[in-house]
Amino acid sequence: MENILTMPLSDMPGLTFDCACGQRHSFPVKHLSIRSGAVDDLPAMAEPFRSGTIVVVFDSNTYPVAGEKAVARLKDAGFAVKELLFNCGDDILLPDEKTLGRILMEVDKDTTLIVAVGSGVLNDSVKFVTSRCHLPYIIVATAPSMDGYVSDGAPIICEGYKYSPQAHLTYGLVGDTDALQTAPQELVAAGYGDVVGKITALADWDLAKKVVGEHYCETSVQLVQKALDKCFAEAAGLPRRKPEALEALMEALTITGVAMALLNISRPASGAEHMISHHWEMAYIARGLNPIHHGIQVGVATVLIARFFEELSDVLPAGVAALCPSHEEIENLLRLGGAPVSPVEIGIDRELFHRSMLESYTVRPRYSVMRFAMEQGRLEAIADKLTTEYYG
Ligand SMILES: [Zn+2]
Ligand SMILES: [Zn+2]
Repeated sequence: MENILTMPLSDMPGLTFDCACGQRHSFPVKHLSIRSGAVDDLPAMAEPFRSGTIVVVFDSNTYPVAGEKAVARLKDAGFAVKELLFNCGDDILLPDEKTLGRILMEVDKDTTLIVAVGSGVLNDSVKFVTSRCHLPYIIVATAPSMDGYVSDGAPIICEGYKYSPQAHLTYGLVGDTDALQTAPQELVAAGYGDVVGKITALADWDLAKKVVGEHYCETSVQLVQKALDKCFAEAAGLPRRKPEALEALMEALTITGVAMALLNISRPASGAEHMISHHWEMAYIARGLNPIHHGIQVGVATVLIARFFEELSDVLPAGVAALCPSHEEIENLLRLGGAPVSPVEIGIDRELFHRSMLESYTVRPRYSVMRFAMEQGRLEAIADKLTTEYYG
């Protein structure tokens, strides 16, 4: 068997192997293409679906960036193409009843494939609709903004409530670095923050293995760690949109998705830092506010979770603390890639901050360093200390 740790991303689709962790892992996505000019690979990816109509979905921002090219490449290759434009103007497109319904209305009886051209919202919306219609979808990514391109969950909004039902994995991912280079800086910073969050996600997983005996996969950990190292080595190029930096970021986001798919669980990508982010996001939605970008929140929350590991270093099982760098090192990493570092900087108020420090471990049943703090009787003291540090 070829080793997944040494193979290029483009070789991973379709992989199945017996892992040293005792599980048989497989990665059912069919195509991954991340490079300059990757949109040219779209017709070859879509070839099995030539017998019917292909619906291509984009919005007024993503059409000039990659939608126009995607449609042209498919039409030039002789495919029957139907286009759906979300003309959202200055409004933010939401993955809600209206957007999901609008996509469904373009599905004809002979539709064989939907291509989404966009980032978070279009990806999630098309992912959800196609999963329910039993149609494959391909995502043409326009921003390296989050790790949901290769994940089977689809965060959507129903009657104002955001939740993440299981959908399905994409058939193929096109990450054209020419398009990614035009992504707004805040989306690049968000994707980078999501990647930084993997540091504490992996430390949390080690803690869960040692405290509650959770299943642990060293191969997946190394796979993610390798992608993180490459992304951090290039991070200084992100604010300048250096193509190598954007490619390393997109690869790290994608490889995280591969690790999640191998394990069939988001554990390699999501720990307590994600629980804090979800807590803040739900509070914003409850207040009728637009949430801050997921990855921006995750990056800031990673600093906070590093503080938890520091505060608990006297009681952590052996070897756990060493997996989490100091909070200053994480702040420096975030700044290097142009991402915010503090809850005050992103507008989290004192009351919400304190409440989130106490409650986030309950957001999901997954074991984390915050639950460990609670079990040690230290949660309130840490919450109070961090709140005073940031808010006085
Ligand atoms: Zn995330
Ligand atoms: Zn494994």
